[in-house]
Order: sequence, then C-alpha cells, then structure tokens
Amino acid sequence: MNTTDKRQTKYIFVTGGVASSLGKGIISSSLARLLLGRGYTVTIQKLDPYINVDPGTLNPYEHGECYVTEDGAETDLDLGHYERFTNTHTSQANNVTTGRIYQSVINKERRGDFLGKTVQVIPHITDEIKRRIMLVGNKGEYDIVITEIGGTVGDIESLPYIEAVRQLRYQLGAGNSLVIHLTLIPYMAASGELKTKPTQHSVKTLLENGVQPDMLVLRTEKELTADVRSKVALFCNVEPDAVAQSIDVPTIYEVPLRLLEQNFDLVALRKLGLPAPESDLKEWTEFVDKVKNPKREIKIALIGKYTELPDAYKSIAEAFVHAGATNHAKVRLEYVNSEKITPQSIDRTLGQMCGILVAPGFGHRGIEGKILAVEYARTRKIPFMGICLGMQCCVIEYARNVLGYADANSTEMETATAYPVIDIMEEQKNITEKGGTMRLGAYPCKLTEGSRAQTIYGAEEISERHRHRYEFNNKYMQAFQEAGLKIAGINPATGLVEIVEIEDHPWFVGVQFHPEYKSTVLNPHPLFVSFIKAALDHCN
Ligand code: GLN
Repeated sequence: MNTTDKRQTKYIFVTGGVASSLGKGIISSSLARLLLGRGYTVTIQKLDPYINVDPGTLNPYEHGECYVTEDGAETDLDLGHYERFTNTHTSQANNVTTGRIYQSVINKERRGDFLGKTVQVIPHITDEIKRRIMLVGNKGEYDIVITEIGGTVGDIESLPYIEAVRQLRYQLGAGNSLVIHLTLIPYMAASGELKTKPTQHSVKTLLENGVQPDMLVLRTEKELTADVRSKVALFCNVEPDAVAQSIDVPTIYEVPLRLLEQNFDLVALRKLGLPAPESDLKEWTEFVDKVKNPKREIKIALIGKYTELPDAYKSIAEAFVHAGATNHAKVRLEYVNSEKITPQSIDRTLGQMCGILVAPGFGHRGIEGKILAVEYARTRKIPFMGICLGMQCCVIEYARNVLGYADANSTEMETATAYPVIDIMEEQKNITEKGGTMRLGAYPCKLTEGSRAQTIYGAEEISERHRHRYEFNNKYMQAFQEAGLKIAGINPATGLVEIVEIEDHPWFVGVQFHPEYKSTVLNPHPLFVSFIKAALDHCN
C-alpha cells in the first residue's frame, strides 16, 4: 500500500507448536498472498535454529531441497514457497540460521566490537537476531514483514528466537507486531473427538517465554466445531475470530482461499491497525480452479537419487504444478531412482512416460542410470528436460553414443577420463571450502538465434539461477555442434554453455541453470510450460 510516504513497517511472527512440519511456511506464504491481494507490499523471512551457516552443505535427505535466490544465497526450501506464493524475489537476508547469527557475533567479538564485555546469548545473540529481522523491514520496501521462526516452541534451540520476538514486540510498541501460532488439533478416531489440550500446552509454553500469541492457526484433519474454536480462544487468551483452522486441502495453493473464507487477513490487519482494502485474488482463484479441475493427466518421470524424499525436488515438483495448470493438465510425477535403472529394466520403468526429466545432483552415485535415461529419451523421441547435472548427462550421453567418445565423462565422476566433456570451472579449481562456494545465483544467458529456447522464452537474453561447479567443456563445442547437439544459450561474459538442444527431436532441452527456482503461480516457467505441452502431444 503506497499511500503514505512515512509508513511504519509492521512485523508478523509465525511460530509453531505441538509438532514440526505443520506447514508454517505455507501459512506464512498464504497470509502474504492474502495481504498482497489487498495491495500491501509484503516479504517473508525464515529464521532457522540449526547451526549450519546455510543449508547448502546439507544432504537433501536431512533438509529437503536447497533453494537458491537471485543473489546466490543457498537457503531453506520454504523460501521457494515464499517466492511461488508472493511472486517476488527473496534474498540472503530472507534466511538466517543460528550458525550465521553466531558467526557474525563471533566475528564482531574478534574485531573487538564489544569493547571488553562478556558476550552472551542475551543481549548479544538476541540483538543480532533482532537486527536481522529489522534489516528486512528497514529498507522501507515493505509494509509488512512476516518472519517465520523455524522449529517448535519449547525446543532448546528456538529459545533465543522466541526471546528476540518478546523483546522486539515490546520495542516496536502496541499495534506494530503480531504473533501467529500454528498448532495441531489431533483427532481421536476411537472417541470421535478433536483434542485441544496439546494446543493449550503449546500456547502455555509460549506464555512462559513471555509471548502471548494474537492469532492461532489450528491444523486439523476434520472441520473444527464452533465449540472447539471458542474453547481454544478461552484457554489461550485470543479472540474467537482470531482462531482459524487449516484443514488438509488437495493443493497447498488452496490454503490462502480457505484462510480468506475465515477472514484471516482481515483479523490480522485489524490487529495491526491497518485498513482493509478490497481483496483481489482473481488470478489466484483461477489458477487453483485449473489445478483442481484438470482436463488430462500425464506421467512424467523424474530421475534422481533422492527419490524417497520428494522434498529434495520441491521446486521442480511445484514448477510442474504451475506448468500443468497452464496446460489444463495434472502432472503425475513418478520419482525414479537412477541407481535402479538398467538396460533391462528401462523399458518397464520409462516406457509409459509422457516426458522424462533428469534432475540436478552431485557425485557419481546413480549417474550411469541417468545417462541411460537420457539415451532412452533421445532415441525414443520422448520429450526430455535435463537440469544442471541432468544437462551434463545429456552432454556425456551424446559424446559416448553419437560422437563415439567411449569413456566420455564429467571430471566430477571420473578425473582420468580421456574425454572430459564436462569439466570443473576454472575459478573453482583452487576452492577447497564447500560452503557457499559454487557458482551461485542469477547470471545472464544469450539465446541462440533460431533455437527452441529462443522461441520458448520469446527473448534474446534471459537470466536464470545457478548452483554448480562443473561446466560444458568448450574444447568440444565444435564437435558437438557438427554432430547435431545445438548450443542454444551461452553466458555472454564467460562463454559458458547454458543450454543444449537436439533439433531432430520433439522436445529435448538440457539447461545448466535451474529454471525451477523461478517458476511461480502467477509466472509459470516457460520451459516447464513448453515441456508439458510437448509431453501432452507425445501422449495424445
Ligand atoms: N554436480 C554438478 C556440478 O557441480 C551439477 C550440480 C547440480 O546439478 N546442481 O556442476
């Protein structure tokens, strides 16, 4: 809302209790969508209580996908939800971990900034947490900053964050902040009852830490009765209309609409003393309708090695939801473990697929299965997309099977290969530290005249996000081009190959970057949209 020049940024804190993984990220994103729908400018920040400086070095099995922002921050996957729901970019400042907080406090201590004082959790760590929260709001870009506190209240590692919220609320003054607490209302099938006691205890824990929540969101499998709502309101000192339910829905994108029905955003605005202009969620509602009422369903294989944990490929899965809806189709993703792909089994596994995607990844495990999948898609003319390592697999496969470079490989997998068609980037050669040292974030890419990519993007130059150490080896560029692998996009400054294509194929595109990070509900990614269209044609 850009009506007044001097606006006070308001802060909303989202905490969670009773159980982890209740969906604080989705609730925060949904509230942001509702407030955007009423004309406010909103951003969302995530505070993560673990000691890793960022999730970049975490195994996807530990923490799901690592999401990459425009400015090259390796972040929690919730930031992906924030961007997909709000359609705006986040940055390094939007994800802060305990590791990062301590790192800056310790660096300051080493510099002598604390002038001989004893450095303590309170006030030094809590001051740093508050500084990081205010940093997002101080730029003056946003009317409202939503800060999601990771973890669950009562956890030892969450305490400094809750304490920082307590202090900040006091400093910001009445009406300038809001605490929303998300809990679970379990349903006891045996007695047919919804239970409120865990919520009461969770709020009590918050109160012990000096924080009174203003609003509650109750996750539930069954509709909450008016009785349950008023009971929770009474025991937790919140107004009855400030108790919302978040019932399981077929798509996460429906959550804002379900909260809107309960006036969730209106109550939040009232508590923040902000006006409530008309809500406009027309485009959003249309999108949700398309997701819920597809005209067709198609199967796409996602080939990777973290297939038991679909969260490892969250942004890709969501990009398919967006692209599917645009094409009035439901995309059924079949997660295929590349280690299980053999020449004998491949027909059975991939024969029925309308499209094949080889996912990003690191290390040699499962690589040969990915290369087999590329070959299968290329020779059977099945629509194919390769992302990052997936694109590198396209290059290796083409080298081995079309150019006849028998042991062609990436030097990530085989340092001694005679044909290093994918090689470590020059600037990566002397890097030994793992954290935050890859080629990260947005870089421009110039599209080749007449390429499929150029038609799809409808642009000459694009910008996409990256996360890799290895690259296409330009020594082989001519050989590949002559053999029919088209170089469709190049970084204008470095000459790094960003896109490869095969012309004599219905749809075969490999990209060194990660298009999935930029796909949002209101801007589905053109590559995914075009890939799904080709997949629908293939299965017609
Ligand atoms: N392991 C490859 C590299 O570092 C690909 C990385 C990825 O898929 N994100 O270049």
